[in-house]
Amino acid sequence: MLWPGGAKAAVSMTYDDGRENNLDFAIPDLEESDFRGTFNLVTGERRTLERATDWRAAFGRGHEIGNHSVHHPARSAAYPSNPPWLTHRLDQFTQEDIDREVGEAAAWLDTHIGPDPGRSYCYPCTHVAIGNPPNETAYRNAILKCHRFARAGTMLSQPGSSFDGINDPWQVDLLKINSIGYFPTDRLFFPPLLESNLAVGGWLVLMFHGVGGPSHETPLAVHRGIIQALKAGPFWVAPTRDVANHIESVRMGNT
Ligand SMILES: [Zn+2]
Repeated sequence: MLWPGGAKAAVSMTYDDGRENNLDFAIPDLEESDFRGTFNLVTGERRTLERATDWRAAFGRGHEIGNHSVHHPARSAAYPSNPPWLTHRLDQFTQEDIDREVGEAAAWLDTHIGPDPGRSYCYPCTHVAIGNPPNETAYRNAILKCHRFARAGTMLSQPGSSFDGINDPWQVDLLKINSIGYFPTDRLFFPPLLESNLAVGGWLVLMFHGVGGPSHETPLAVHRGIIQALKAGPFWVAPTRDVANHIESVRMGNT
């Protein structure tokens, strides 16, 4: 697939859960290289409401502000320790429950951030099914009422695994886009990921959470190293929304 500007591959930098340090560190890092990212907000979180003005300004500068639901629902079986944040359980959800989770967050974003017809959804905890037995179709139907694109992925970096967060632009399911979680304390396996992405002309989607924060986060030096590597290569670095829109247009023969 031809990528814009003669790029040889696409990369999306995505950040989940709307941490304040995304505004304070990740966005300035990206903008210094004239890159834009995707920031997936949980609209029921206090920190989202407190920084809504800043998120809205970032949206105005070209970043994507994605829908990461109202309450961050996840499947119970993935969290046997029963963490306090797990208040909404996908395995107990009905169609109406997931319609509300996705739809109310989409409406909040339209009102408080601004309308964006390409805005993507991001599955909390990368879980893509409701109910028991797991039903992916019900979840997709809820997303399709508000969005055309959704990012899934795997939470933990697993260098050497067959799952690497690289999408084939001709094959990728735009309602289940792959990504790879990037929490490492070093960036040893980032150059091989970039090489693999270049070799196939693919779309690599990185999933971050906090950047430069106290724990379980990507250190600033690693984040900046990744940006420098992207800047040095023939990559189109763009939000999930923009790459998915491009792929959709090419597939429909409009580009
Ligand atoms: Zn999340």
